[in-house]
Amino acid sequence: TNRDLLKQQEKRESNARSYPRRIPLAIKEAEGMYITDMDGRKYLDCLAGAGTLALGHNHPVVVEAMEKVIKDRLPLHTLDITTPVKENFVDELFASLPEELHDDAKIQFCGPTGGDAIEAALKLVKTATGRQSILTFQGGYHGSTHGTMAISGNLSPKQHVQGLIPDTHFLPYPYTYRCPFGRKGEDGHQLSSAYIEQLLDDPESGILPPAAVICETVQGEGGSIPAPIEWLQEIRRITKERGIPLIIDEVQTGIGRTGRMFSFEHAGIVPDVFVLSKAIGGSLPLSVVIYDQSIETWEPGAHIGTFRGNQMAMAAGAATLKYVKDNKLDKHAEAMGNYMLDSLKDIQSHVPELGDVRGRGLMIGVEVVDPAQPQSSNGSYPANSELASNIQQECFKRGLILEVGGRHGAVVRFLPPLIITENQVDEVITIFRQAVQASLR
Ligand code: PMP
Repeated sequence: TNRDLLKQQEKRESNARSYPRRIPLAIKEAEGMYITDMDGRKYLDCLAGAGTLALGHNHPVVVEAMEKVIKDRLPLHTLDITTPVKENFVDELFASLPEELHDDAKIQFCGPTGGDAIEAALKLVKTATGRQSILTFQGGYHGSTHGTMAISGNLSPKQHVQGLIPDTHFLPYPYTYRCPFGRKGEDGHQLSSAYIEQLLDDPESGILPPAAVICETVQGEGGSIPAPIEWLQEIRRITKERGIPLIIDEVQTGIGRTGRMFSFEHAGIVPDVFVLSKAIGGSLPLSVVIYDQSIETWEPGAHIGTFRGNQMAMAAGAATLKYVKDNKLDKHAEAMGNYMLDSLKDIQSHVPELGDVRGRGLMIGVEVVDPAQPQSSNGSYPANSELASNIQQECFKRGLILEVGGRHGAVVRFLPPLIITENQVDEVITIFRQAVQASLR
């Protein structure tokens, strides 16, 4: 039963475990959009392995690709030595790249996590530029290793770990709905980019030329916050004009989730380096760094590791990429995302406890606030993490799995598989509406 397995987990696993605290079940099986727990309850999965499961659970094309590896007795582990499975994966991936990168792209296979690939990207730009500092954004998330934690905006986990890489500067991320400087109106992102430009050009800012600027185009863990498209274009212009490599962290946004294969395509920009993980392994652990070969100054062995490109993950990843492309799942994600966003905005318009509703594609967040408190100078109410958590629990009771995130833990996050249908969006919305009503009773 759920109870038996949860009891064992609690006894044996470290206190650092996170998801089971909010989603207290043991999973027996999973198919498509649905998870079934040990007690036979079925849930709609709008967490999708934290954005990993682009095609949902056990999609037939993914299962078939993995079965073929087993059936043909292909090697399961080859370090970074190549195989037909690997070259096929790279073919599929490179064929998905924007035209500007077609002939110039290089790929580095990394340890299986997003965090490891971000570490590799940081090493790559530091080696290429001979510089040290990294400019990153308030509220951003890039992983939980020493280096990636240092460049992530969330203070609570890192305040207990001394000695993270010190040379990191945090820049204001442009909230579409709220200016990082607390001003009212739509000029928030212009203030942010003007500030960044000034910071880079004024020697009195005390900032040495950085090895890179790294950012998410939609902050995921930070609370599903899409950066304005013009701001992304400004960041590309500012970095390009000054010869600063731009790294885009596509770990959560990549492979169609935001409505484009890669989220930077919304802005018509191409970064110097970008990082993929989560969906790229078709449910299995895989991560890569893609970069323009002009930046390559790495010596052999510059980023090593035992597990660099699991063969099964490459087979599953290639099948996922092909399916996303053949079925235009990026466009489907955009349509379903807009539909979900409109439905959530409709709920929000009747419920003062729901603040900003925002997203890009199937990366959506609903800010939960306390309208009984005074508004701040920019017109927003304080975040209400307790109510957000209650809404999540009420959703869970009704068979919908969602995550809560954001800087105050008050953003309900929707991150479903890209294969979600309109009927399933309706199902999600019905449960969410009931859960909000129940939480306010
Ligand atoms: N970057 C982003 C944008 C992420 O969302 C995450 C994971 N949530 C990571 C990096 C780190 O990936 P991993 O957990 O696989 O190390």
